[in-house]
Amino acid sequence: MPPQQLLIGGNWVTAQGGGHVATHDPATGRVLAQLAAGEVDDVDGAVASARKALQGPWGRMSAADRGMLLRRWARLIDDKASTLVQLETADTGKPMSTARRDMGTTARYFDFCGSAADKVHGQAIPYREGYSASVWREPHGVTAHIIPWNYPASQFARTVAPALAMGNACVVKPSEEACLSTLSIAALAAEAGLPPGALNVVTGLGGVAGAALSAHPGIDFLSFTGSPAIGTQVQQAAARNHVACSLELGGKSPQIVFADADLTRAVPAIVKGIVQHAGQTCSAGSRLLVQSSVYGDVVAQVASAFEALRVGTPEMDLDCGPLMNARQRDRVHAALAGAHAQGMRVIAQGRLAPGLDEGGFWVVPALVAGVPRTHPLAREELFGPVLCVLPFEDEADAIHLANDTPYGLVAGVWTREGGRQQRLARALRCGQVFLNCFWGPSGVELPFGGVRRSGHGREKGLLALEHMSITKTVVHHYADT
Ligand code: NAD
Repeated sequence: MPPQQLLIGGNWVTAQGGGHVATHDPATGRVLAQLAAGEVDDVDGAVASARKALQGPWGRMSAADRGMLLRRWARLIDDKASTLVQLETADTGKPMSTARRDMGTTARYFDFCGSAADKVHGQAIPYREGYSASVWREPHGVTAHIIPWNYPASQFARTVAPALAMGNACVVKPSEEACLSTLSIAALAAEAGLPPGALNVVTGLGGVAGAALSAHPGIDFLSFTGSPAIGTQVQQAAARNHVACSLELGGKSPQIVFADADLTRAVPAIVKGIVQHAGQTCSAGSRLLVQSSVYGDVVAQVASAFEALRVGTPEMDLDCGPLMNARQRDRVHAALAGAHAQGMRVIAQGRLAPGLDEGGFWVVPALVAGVPRTHPLAREELFGPVLCVLPFEDEADAIHLANDTPYGLVAGVWTREGGRQQRLARALRCGQVFLNCFWGPSGVELPFGGVRRSGHGREKGLLALEHMSITKTVVHHYADT
């Protein structure tokens, strides 16, 4: 594969420093691609191009035309889906069917935001006689987008589509671990009719290109998706320039099973909620909280589902692929070894498919019991296919336990009792609550985001478009009365 380039001002260019960052195929550990290593000068150029685009045809384009453009882009993504899926699986190691679903979701973000572009309206306020008062919605201006490696295509679409729908000009810093699909989708923008400079993509190291972008005085808004530690750094950098930012960070989301739950529906959703993309999903349900009266039965059913799980290459299209890199694999193995040494038990595990490349970053899914409530395995994001199970006594105990982590992203609640469903939905401190389900098909229209260490952004749905814009109140005194 030829070395990749940066997209700046509508042109594909090499990084000014001429350097590259290698990415690896998680299923073999071998080098997959060379990304251009963008540096401070490249970020400066990208921000200047975005500013220039706002003063040109992009800044003057009507909302309806922006919408049509985004919908054309969605169709181009659909047309190229099989190539994009190949890139996404090679880059991230996820099973083919997961990548196919992700690419459908990616196109749908562009379609959804394109369809909504001309439907986000301002307000007229009844103020005083002789005055007209209205609230306009305007783009922030230049928006910066720093995104992670786990869902490169759909994360790109999730943040960039609403920003462009509202008329912002974007500078994107994808992950240095995986972003081939992002670059290919960006390459379709010109064909969709996006004017030069409205979208700029600067690949490179987080500590270099990402740090330069988050600290750049020329940006007007920063959208960050990634780990809490880096989220803190970018928020501090943006604050020095008084730039508002949204943070979409990690999670330790609970799946809460009461004694009256329908286990035929709950168990498959609980297993999928942790093994999708080998647990490398921010909203993974990585804690299973079970009412003590049914603990043995629930754990037995989940354990038997875990034993049936198979790990393999993207082409094998099994339950899980490899982890993203050796660091992630070693972290998960170390956590499991530590848990074992402290008396916790792996009560069920999946298996590796035969014939896998020894250089791949393989981890089998594991169900761990006997985890103390205060242990890091019960409270901290691991980002691997590890589900820890903890018992609770009653509703109050379930709520306390569910909320007892520094995070608050999503939660699943499994109970047939209507009043309890509503009480839990109110009491859980997080951004999305699923009652008798977990996640939804694609979820593009469902506002998403966390509280506390899970961040404070709101993406997806119509809310995403509002967040990618800012209001201006205009008061017109037209007559003395
Ligand atoms: P990360 O924080 O290491 O990296 C995210 C992005 O930040 C990358 O593009 C990286 O290059 C960049 N970066 C790194 N150092 C930087 C710095 N000093 N300044 C500016 N940018 C910098 O996260 P990751 O390992 O890529 O992704 C995994 C994390 O992302 C997990 O914690 C996961 O929960 C979280 N995540 C959250 C969501 C969500 O919507 N809440 C979605 C996906 C992933």
